Amino acid sequence: MDRNELRPEHFAAWVDWAKANRNGLDFNPSYFSHPQAADNFTLASHDAGIRKFWIEHGIVCRKIGEYFGRELGTPCVTNIWIPDGLKDTPADRKTPRRLKPHDLIETRLDKNDSGVTLASTELLAHRTIYMQTPALAICHCHPRTAIAFSLTRDEIVPIDNEASYLLKKVPIIWEEFASGTPEMASHLAKALQSYKIVMLRGHGSFAIGQTLDEAFFWSSTLEEACDIMLKAKSINKPFIEYRKMSEAYNKW
Ligand SMILES: [Zn+2]
Repeated sequence: MDRNELRPEHFAAWVDWAKANRNGLDFNPSYFSHPQAADNFTLASHDAGIRKFWIEHGIVCRKIGEYFGRELGTPCVTNIWIPDGLKDTPADRKTPRRLKPHDLIETRLDKNDSGVTLASTELLAHRTIYMQTPALAICHCHPRTAIAFSLTRDEIVPIDNEASYLLKKVPIIWEEFASGTPEMASHLAKALQSYKIVMLRGHGSFAIGQTLDEAFFWSSTLEEACDIMLKAKSINKPFIEYRKMSEAYNKW
């Protein structure tokens, strides 16, 4: 019998023993040492079938714990320990973030429908940008280094070669309510008529493109550029300008 098929009656002998010895019983599911835990992922497995198996195991174990408590007249602690996870720097950050069909929320551009309640609070910003710019895709992120830079300046001018070439400079815009307001949405759309990516101070980036990949590419380029700027500053030596015409970048 497999672990998702356990039933309280399979543990009747445990209850008989506990009653005879005037003991209570605790219980725990076992999310390890099993072929379905071969890669050390159970409830957080990427495989829906493996997740289902371990969810069922958790449910049957809770039922067994409830049976112990009821039979013995004392609470049964059902202790759940899940081994899933990776140490500080996961080897794989992409797969857990990969979009699944049910992550996509379809809603109308021009009016509300039933999808709206599930959509992001930035729905208004996305709609306004779609209607006022040539964007066919929008990527909104909360990149931590770019956010930190947005708190100390009015524009981000990358210093590395790649981002200097690709982005030139990224304006930072600001609204009193930096999330979900019509003022922010129209301010953003106006900025994105001139730039492919802008930062909302203290909040995050909005990038546009013809495809989602393109909009994401501008977003990751900005965060990489900010990370390089942060590292260059932390070295605490004067910056050696190596780019021809670099003074033109902040006039872009
Ligand atoms: Zn946001």
